[in-house]
Amino acid sequence: MAAECLACGMSVPAGVATCPKCDAVLDEQTDGSVLHRDIAHQHETVAQAMSKLTQALQDCRRSHACGVRLAVGRGVIREEVMRQLSWLITNGEILDFDHDEGNTGAIMVIMRRCRRQAPKPSGGKRSGQKP
Ligand SMILES: [Zn+2]
Repeated sequence: MAAECLACGMSVPAGVATCPKCDAVLDEQTDGSVLHRDIAHQHETVAQAMSKLTQALQDCRRSHACGVRLAVGRGVIREEVMRQLSWLITNGEILDFDHDEGNTGAIMVIMRRCRRQAPKPSGGKRSGQKP
């Protein structure tokens, strides 16, 4: 499966770490989107929820999302997920995580820095040029 460099649009083979055209680090590229995963509302056991967590993080890594929003409920799964995420930060697997604003049943996991792409000159108005 080929991927696409978000910086220059070049199609690059899967498994390539940096874009051969513009040297962008493909793994760190994000389009700013966020995945959503519910890992705790179908009577999951803690073990099942943790395996869903792993799957969600893998999905996020394979996509261009900058993070994944996890619905974890308010019980023991939530505690276990937060413990695991703390460990993953120490390990460098994820960047950060945060309780989703105003909703204690969800956790936002940050896997890539949401940087705005450099604005492209195309499509905008050009100053000082007349047709
Ligand atoms: Zn590129």
